[in-house]
Amino acid sequence: MRIDELIEKKQTLSFEVFPPKPEMDADLEGIRRTLRNLRDANPDFVSVTYGAGGNNRPRAIDIADMVISLGMIPLSHLTAIGYTREEALGIIGSLTDTGVENILALRGDRPANSGRDEDCWKDFHKASELAGFVRHCGDFCVGGAAYPEGHQDSLSGEIDIEFMLEKLGSGVSFFVTQLFFDNSAFARFSDRCRAAGIRAPIIAGIMPVLKARQIRRIVEISGCNVPGTLESLLDRYIDDDESMREAGIEYAAGQISDLWSRGVSGIHIYTMNKSAEVLEILRRCDLRR
Ligand code: FAD
Repeated sequence: MRIDELIEKKQTLSFEVFPPKPEMDADLEGIRRTLRNLRDANPDFVSVTYGAGGNNRPRAIDIADMVISLGMIPLSHLTAIGYTREEALGIIGSLTDTGVENILALRGDRPANSGRDEDCWKDFHKASELAGFVRHCGDFCVGGAAYPEGHQDSLSGEIDIEFMLEKLGSGVSFFVTQLFFDNSAFARFSDRCRAAGIRAPIIAGIMPVLKARQIRRIVEISGCNVPGTLESLLDRYIDDDESMREAGIEYAAGQISDLWSRGVSGIHIYTMNKSAEVLEILRRCDLRR
């Protein structure tokens, strides 16, 4: 089933999982358990991340296959960095053989200490180029990333909007956002998108805060704003994971309930491969379906 068709009919609920490192989950039994548990929430789709440069490529495809075998719809992430058209075609072919119909086309990040530019970027330099290529390869539903508080490479909010418009021009039919903790930032971003003529659904990416130190690192990388209420929780529970987990579940439930009641196109939870916390968040905002 295509996500663009689903999202036309209703607000969607979806999850992101990532391929675990082989040393953590060699036979993928752990992620299979997580997916089985997450299935209880009846998600509309489950996205599977893709390591830049493709170092987890076979596992990402195996997990998309697992999502299908568990009766759910996968959204496979695909990063452009480092690929020639032929290489990208090979991966898209494997995804097609697996039964994947939905692809999130991404640029990917330049690895640290990656040397010369020409070794990093081959045939694709931005997500819109990959999106166009994926559309050209088959009848895929293609999504793109969006950044409510700006991408770290962006010189201004206008550039992010221009990139979104280019993605739409390349055949992207929906967006999934970077995580954010401040719903008013998302509301302002949605207004700017609408003002620029972007009518495609924008699915809100929500990451539950389960450990204060981990979130501090993520905030540093993503540059997202931390509202005062969350800031004081992070300070208070910096060394108290149990209390942070409880407060983080409550915070995410509040954020999701608020977005849902305002009619957001969809909620995409960055699960970090944790099912119990995600199911608890959904129970608290009455979204377990
Ligand atoms: P693009 O749309 O090409 O660019 C993103 C932004 O960067 C633009 O909006 C623009 O502001 C700025 N920018 C880019 N190029 C230029 C330029 N030349 N001049 C000025 N500004 C520029 N990464 C992974 O490796 N694997 C994943 O599975 C993955 N999943 C993701 C899922 C979501 C929902 C999101 C939001 C991000 C994900 N990422 C993933 C991270 C993503 O690859 C990085 O954020 C990357 O830096 C940008 O990718 P993009 O597709 O948004 O690129």
